[in-house]
Parts: sequence; C-alpha cells; structure tokens
Amino acid sequence: MFGRLFVVGTPIGNLRDITLRAIDVLQKVDFLVVEDSRVTLKLLNHLGIRKPMISYFKHCNNSRLALILKKLQGGETAAIVSDAGMPCISDPGEELIKLCIQHGVEVVPIPGVNAALTGLVSSGIGSASFCFEGFLATDRKSRQKKLEELRSEKRTIIFYEAPHKLRRTLADLLKFLGDRTVCVARELTKIHEQFLRVSLSEAVRYFETTLPRGEFVLIVQGQESPEESTEEEDEVDVKEKALELFKSGASLPEISRLLVSKKMSRNKIYKMLLDNSLAAQIPPSSDAEGVNIPSVDDDSLTGDNNKTPGADRF
Ligand code: SAM
Repeated sequence: MFGRLFVVGTPIGNLRDITLRAIDVLQKVDFLVVEDSRVTLKLLNHLGIRKPMISYFKHCNNSRLALILKKLQGGETAAIVSDAGMPCISDPGEELIKLCIQHGVEVVPIPGVNAALTGLVSSGIGSASFCFEGFLATDRKSRQKKLEELRSEKRTIIFYEAPHKLRRTLADLLKFLGDRTVCVARELTKIHEQFLRVSLSEAVRYFETTLPRGEFVLIVQGQESPEESTEEEDEVDVKEKALELFKSGASLPEISRLLVSKKMSRNKIYKMLLDNSLAAQIPPSSDAEGVNIPSVDDDSLTGDNNKTPGADRF
C-alpha cells in the first residue's frame, strides 16, 4: 500500500504557532521533504524531533522528485514543510503534490500559519473578497503588465515583498494603482511586529526615511467603485434635464419616459415634476398655466397618445 504525503504548515516567526497536529505528524512520518534543511533543523531541535530530510526546492530535478515518489509508493509516509508558513504558497511543493495526485499517493493537508492571511485579517482592509499576488516580477515589462492589470481589480490585493525591494514596490503601486489605502504588515508574529495602515503615498514617504527591515506583506485596497450619487443629487440632475426637455417642447409623459432610469421610476419622476420649485422655473409664456395635471396612475403616463399639445405640461 502507498504511503501518504502530509503538507504541513509551520510558523512564520513565532515557534509557538505550530499546531498540535503538525507536531504529531512531524514525529510520526518516516522522512521530511524540506526547503532548506538548516531552517527545518532549527524547528525540529525546538520540538525535540530527529528525522531524515530530503531537500526539495522549486523546479527540483526530476530524479529528486522520482526518488520521493518512489519512497511514497513503497509505503513510506512523508511530510513536506517549507522554511515558513504553508508549503506551495510562494514556496516549493506544488510540483510534488501534483505528481503524488497523478500517481495515486494520498495528499493530506495539515494547515498552519500563512503570512498573507495573517496580514489580511489584521489590515482593516476588506477581507470578504481578495486576491493573492505573491511577489511581483522584478523585470520591468512583466511587472508593469501585471500592475496595469491590477489597476481595475476590485478585490483586496495581497503582495509579499523582500525588504530591499520594498521601496521600489511601494512606489510602483502608487504609480500604477493610484493613491489608495495600504497596510504594510511587517514581521508578523515576531517581536517587532508592526502595521502601517496609511495611504500608498504616505507609505512611500515613511520608507524614504526608514530603512525597510524584516519581512513584509502588503495588503492593498482594491479599486473602489465611483461613489454612488445621493437621492438629492439624482433629483437635481433629473430636474435640470426635465427643464431642458420642457423648454424644447416635450410633454410631461414624454419627459417622464425619457428620464426614467434604474435610479428613478417613472412615477417618481412624474411626481417630482409637479414640484413647485420646478414649476417656478418655467417661463411665464408657458402654456402650462391652468392645465389639469393627470394623476400619477393616469394612463397618459404610459404614453402620450390622445394628448392635446401642451395639456400635460407643468
Ligand atoms: N509560505 C509562506 C506563507 O505561507 O506565508 C510564504 C513564503 S515566502 C517565500 C516569504 C515571504 O512571505 C516573505 O518575503 C514575506 O513577504 C512573507 N512573510 C513570511 N513571513 C512573514 C512575517 N513573519 N511577516 C511578514 N511577512 C512574512
């Protein structure tokens, strides 16, 4: 019978963030698949665990992958861990997991901490809908293409960034996305944990005088929809347009029909057109004086058939 591959989350700073299940699995498996054996050794020493390790990195050669798969197919169990957080999230793991699935080796998740989600939930920026972009490409062309694509992204956007690239990334975010809210989450779960919840331009200014140190997650506000107009603004707008139509000779039902929109029903427009403040703007030469205004429910509102010219003007 085949063994199993456990995908184990490890702490992103604070070693106490390891889960009980993770400790259990690390103790029980036959071997570990690790990103960097020196980093994992520190965690194992902290937990008092000794275990054989096979190093595995992104785009690992096929013979390394084949060796791991063979061991699993031979019935051994393994846990894949990265240097910090969840494997496969801006870390190696994906190729091995795909390979296991293809060859019928069971993959079992042991969830743990992840920097992106830890940053997001404490950012104060919308978490109902978000996208994770990881590290931005460093070459100018693909970076620019990605940022242009992201300009209209409505969801909250999460990036990872290394300290020596932070200033350039903040400046590019400001340039391509405009001045929106950002949360710069630094050294999460560690002693110097810090959150800078500001606008992108303020973040750029802050890091002009502060040297970026440590690890960073950037949580950027998605593009906001243009502000909804208020009911009063809609009314002013409709009144102005109505007056123009009136001056050009349109009848009341015509005006109601022409101005109907998702925002304002025909009946509402009609009632509004009867408003005194609008009537006061009608030139004295208007033929509206002394006419009978049909009721809102009047059939005339569904069209302007059988109307005496000017009879339904205000
Ligand atoms: N697999 C990890 C995870 O699940 O979050 C991410 C690994 S990725 C190679 C490393 C990047 O994650 C860092 O450059 C930084 O952007 C972010 N990161 C990791 N630990 C962090 C921490 N404690 N505080 C802030 N960002 C962190």
